[in-house]
Amino acid sequence: MNTEKDLVSLVVPCYNEQEVLPLFYQAICDLRQEWDGAEIEMIFVDDGSSDKTLDILRLLRRKDPTVRYISFSRNFGKEAAILAGLDAAKGTLVATIDADLQDPPSLLPEMVRLIREEGYDSVGTRRVTRKGEPPIRSFFARMFYKIINRMSKTEMVDGARDFRLMTRQVTDAVLSLREYNRYSKGLFGFVGFKTKWLEFENRQRAAGETKWSFWKLFLYAMDGIVAFSTAPLSIASWCGFLFVAIALIATAVIVIKTLVFGDPVGGWPSLACILFFIGGVQLFCLGIIGQYLSKTYLETKQRPIYIIKETEENSPRLRD
Ligand code: UDP
Ligand code: MG
Repeated sequence: MNTEKDLVSLVVPCYNEQEVLPLFYQAICDLRQEWDGAEIEMIFVDDGSSDKTLDILRLLRRKDPTVRYISFSRNFGKEAAILAGLDAAKGTLVATIDADLQDPPSLLPEMVRLIREEGYDSVGTRRVTRKGEPPIRSFFARMFYKIINRMSKTEMVDGARDFRLMTRQVTDAVLSLREYNRYSKGLFGFVGFKTKWLEFENRQRAAGETKWSFWKLFLYAMDGIVAFSTAPLSIASWCGFLFVAIALIATAVIVIKTLVFGDPVGGWPSLACILFFIGGVQLFCLGIIGQYLSKTYLETKQRPIYIIKETEENSPRLRD
């Protein structure tokens, strides 16, 4: 066990979170008062918010030097925000946590204990219920985890949140993955290490609104599949194989039928249907290849994953 106190860096992605930020900050301050197990530094990453998020962060920094912030030049997405925060974190333990208090900060002492006393390298959290979520969304979420776990070697835990605590070693491992198409749940699974899962009940955001529409979640799910599985690419081969087999059998049937019963011309509607069907399957498979190609294209450009406009170090002087 460490005798020195750990510095826990909290990485908090924030996109238009002006309503909830003061509540979050207060919750951390409360936690700090009753817990002397570790020091806490907060790293807020303003992901190109268009509301007063950045102003609030500047103010928080002014009154509390353990608050740090990074502000992006535009909205780069939550994954980029998490990466920027991890890059900046100085702690011996690093946690990622949402700003909306859906991830209870009160779990932190237990998470630190599990790492320091029980020898885990990281502690993840998952919600066991999806209470308060539209049923159709829960249904698709469950389906997604079933499918992706079949298709990918990297394990992804159903209901896993982006709220986790990890050692410096795990953080550095995650940081060594510099891919452009980032899918955190997969990245954390990919690096491995001994992980403990804590469970908690789903809760509503403390204030503000979710940034994820159903469509955005759907696209995110597709990104996850493309990033962590190449199984869809083999669909084309399997379809091709199947159709060749069907074609051979059909040819044999037609040849025999013609020899035995003569050759009555007919059947063009079925022919048209088959043509459409095969055409559709071909386009679908081409689309899958396109998905992978487009991701490869973006990776090869090696664009930066985020661009920083301001941090606590070049923060403008505030007028009183
Ligand atoms: N978030 C972000 N960039 C985005 C979208 C969301 O940094 O483009 C942050 C957001 O501020 C919050 C976290 O990601 O701290 C989770 O977002 P949200 O609560 O909207 O998602 P949900 O909990 O509904 O899945
Ligand atoms: Mg939320």
